[in-house]
Amino acid sequence: MKVVLQNLTKIFPSRDKKAGKEVVAVNDFTFEIPDGKLIGLLGPSGCGKSTTLYMISGLQKPSSGRIFFGDDDVTELSTENRGIGLVFQNYALYPHMTVKQNILFPLQNLKGADRLSKEEMLTRAYEAAKLVQIDELMERKPSELSGGQQQRVAIARALVKMPRVLLLDEPLSNLDARLRLQTREEIRRIQKETGITTVFVTHDQEEAMSISDMIVVMKLGVVQQIGKPQEVYEDPANLFVAKFLGTPPINVLDGRVQGGKVYIGNDAILEVSGVADQDVIVGIRPEGFELNENGALHCQLSNVEVMGRDVSVVSTNPASQNPFIRSIIDADKRLDLGKQTVSYNVKPHKVFLFHRETEERIRYEVK
Ligand code: ADP
Ligand code: MG
Repeated sequence: MKVVLQNLTKIFPSRDKKAGKEVVAVNDFTFEIPDGKLIGLLGPSGCGKSTTLYMISGLQKPSSGRIFFGDDDVTELSTENRGIGLVFQNYALYPHMTVKQNILFPLQNLKGADRLSKEEMLTRAYEAAKLVQIDELMERKPSELSGGQQQRVAIARALVKMPRVLLLDEPLSNLDARLRLQTREEIRRIQKETGITTVFVTHDQEEAMSISDMIVVMKLGVVQQIGKPQEVYEDPANLFVAKFLGTPPINVLDGRVQGGKVYIGNDAILEVSGVADQDVIVGIRPEGFELNENGALHCQLSNVEVMGRDVSVVSTNPASQNPFIRSIIDADKRLDLGKQTVSYNVKPHKVFLFHRETEERIRYEVK
């Protein structure tokens, strides 16, 4: 089931009637979510992810714009009639019910033509439980389950009605690091097995990058960029997107373009064409540095951290906007730790230029 968001906007009135301004939580969001795909809705806290999800679910009514499931305009439809499955950060299971009763619950409320026999309900509940691998735990109470197991019950409960669209709002935030990894892989597997169009909300870029077919990066209610995770990483539209994706994060330096060269301080690090002389912001991915004794960019060496296969070289440069520049280098590359300075050449496709004021990307060609 494809989901179409058409100029979706949500404006909340100010909480403080006198002083406050209204909040544009979601601003003119247009996107067609392809059938059967998992979309990661990504951005910092308060950027409008949950509001977008609640509008898709029907829990919030858009101020303007429309929502379609396939060709059906569902904008005015109630949550119960949209055929969605919802999973929240706090699992919200009924504590006095067993796992089985929790999963059965949505089916017992079906009315009219949708009503199921007891047998059908049980079959469905066990199918959903099997899918998330909790079918052995059906007689337990939520308090007798780990956080990861509870979240799987919540997912089973969302799946049991065979929703047209699955909506997940930060579903892994309450899990510890290991379970988070495991559960996100499980969500991906379940999503692929069922083929249910899914929107997955998270503020964690790594989480979104790892499981999404496409990511939508939001800032202050406005969509910044939509694309396949790797494409967005390799080709960010602006500084915000470049900074939001990647660990370690991109290195950001003040620079300038002059006579077809990109300068950091007095170091000409790259020759470019198609860019007028101007002050710029230079973003360099950690993997975009090459150690070279005669390298163009000179930095003060601070520290070297070995991380298994890779080595992270930590250095400083007066033009850097962050306290440290972090580069990732092959572990077999030698570095003279006795030296005070370190020199790099940069890989052009890992270097992005941004406008000083607008922070939009400035495209260039490598000479
Ligand atoms: P996210 O899920 O990305 O953290 P939200 O969608 O929850 O962000 O919120 C987006 C913005 O809308 C925030 O500024 C938030 O304070 C505001 N907001 C959310 N819900 C309400 C509400 N019910 N009333 C007023 N403002 C709200
Ligand atoms: Mg939220």
